[in-house]
Amino acid sequence: MFYVKEKVSDTMAVSIEINYLNVFCKCPECGGETNVDLEALSHTDEGLDLFGSAVLCEECSRKLYRRNHRD
Ligand SMILES: [Zn+2]
Repeated sequence: MFYVKEKVSDTMAVSIEINYLNVFCKCPECGGETNVDLEALSHTDEGLDLFGSAVLCEECSRKLYRRNHRD
């Protein structure tokens, strides 16, 4: 199980399990929050690069697809 741990005070920390529902990325096009499945992202050809990767939101993905598939 992977989780994130953050100290919130000198005496308290929170630990949260990472799963496909609680990981998000800011869309690099519109700044909107989008859910990210790290498991799926780790199977891309480029592999998983948490610091160098960005994930488009659904709407920006559609716009990019339309832009790249015009006649
Ligand atoms: Zn977007």
